[in-house]
Amino acid sequence: MLADAHYYFNKAADVLGLPDSVRTILLTPKRSVKVEIVIEGEDGELQSYTGFRVQHNAARGPMKGGLRFHPDMDEDHAAALANLMTWKTAVVDVPFGGAKGGINCDPRTLPKRDLFRITERFVEEMKDVIGPMSDIPAPDVNTNAEVMGWIMNEYSKYAGFSPAVVTGKPLDLFGSEGRAAATGRGVTDVLAEALREQEKSFETVTVAVQGFGNVGSNAALLMAERGASVVAVADHTGGVCRPEGLDVPALVSWVSEHGGVLGFPDAEAFEKDEIITWDADVLVPAALEAAIHKDNATQVKAKIIVEGANAPTTPEADLILNDMGVLIIPDILANAGGVTVSYFEWAQNIQQFKWDEDKVNEELDKQMKRAYLAVRQVTTEFEIDMRTAAFVLAIRRVARAALARVHVSAELPF
Ligand code: NAD
Repeated sequence: MLADAHYYFNKAADVLGLPDSVRTILLTPKRSVKVEIVIEGEDGELQSYTGFRVQHNAARGPMKGGLRFHPDMDEDHAAALANLMTWKTAVVDVPFGGAKGGINCDPRTLPKRDLFRITERFVEEMKDVIGPMSDIPAPDVNTNAEVMGWIMNEYSKYAGFSPAVVTGKPLDLFGSEGRAAATGRGVTDVLAEALREQEKSFETVTVAVQGFGNVGSNAALLMAERGASVVAVADHTGGVCRPEGLDVPALVSWVSEHGGVLGFPDAEAFEKDEIITWDADVLVPAALEAAIHKDNATQVKAKIIVEGANAPTTPEADLILNDMGVLIIPDILANAGGVTVSYFEWAQNIQQFKWDEDKVNEELDKQMKRAYLAVRQVTTEFEIDMRTAAFVLAIRRVARAALARVHVSAELPF
């Protein structure tokens, strides 16, 4: 997975003629930490897990990135996702660097008390490397506001009251209005820009969504609210479709009650992997990485892919889709709404101030539109695809900041 992240970086670095010495600086993580987490489970048995945190780059500010609970979590995943965070924060121009972490546990099979203990132990081990001015975790796959509240509480035991150590917290615990829906909202914002460019509107498009968690469900809700027809949705339990458009709010209620989309009434069921090649105008991959790969890319029917997930498209699939003329709005732009509102939350916590939801949404919409247009300008400048352009924009910003911090005689070619 890290190799894929490096591939996209190097493709953009080639466009910029970035010297090898600067590439090495920008690709090397600042710090990588791996810790053992042992708890006594509710059943009285000892359980052992590994926790990871990779801090990739801090040139533009404290490092920022999600915390994932997943059995497949490992150092390679953390490093690849931390790398992406550095470019993502730069694309939306928030004053953060990039980091990512996680624990190789499976929350679906664990009682909540065990999950709480695992989170507490993780913070205990990581307390010296995270902090409001060094590295600020946030929700990612299988983590949510509740887990962020636990992190804030545990960290505050060591450092004193520290709401800004983590974002995506519950509203009752210094979270920000609008944070829960922010990534899905940002996904919708960039799609709005792409549709505007193509002289289309939400009312005229059909959408297929893979993953119906935080990102997928909020994107589907907001797109449907703006008039799009969400015709198919898949999650880990299966897929459901309705050619006239699914009732998205009803599907959200169903999932919160039943744990997945499977069995949703008033819709037809299908095999979950078919979602990638669904006959819809827009595809929103919002589950895990590498969902679109060389074996299914040629069958993709959507003309626009908005990457809600991180790294959902492998480099081989990316080349195929670009050749097919599919517009890919890349992860480091498309799903940056979450980190943008995380920045707003962090800033509110530090100032001990609160914005209302309209203000958060208005600022988020502005920032996403600005980022989309900045990336679009780079596509024109170099005649390159949007992903390469987003990396070019980010690399320029991070490289300049990294070199401005130290006395070097090397000059950047831009
Ligand atoms: P989540 O845990 O809330 O939801 C994940 C969803 O993916 C669930 O609906 C799950 O059923 C589904 N899924 C898992 N395996 C699947 C499979 N094989 N086929 C279809 N669906 C499957 O996670 P999330 O926070 O929504 O994150 C989703 C993606 O978005 C991840 O790549 C994450 O890194 C990225 N992301 C999240 C945020 C955020 O703010 N939460 C921000 C930026 C990027």
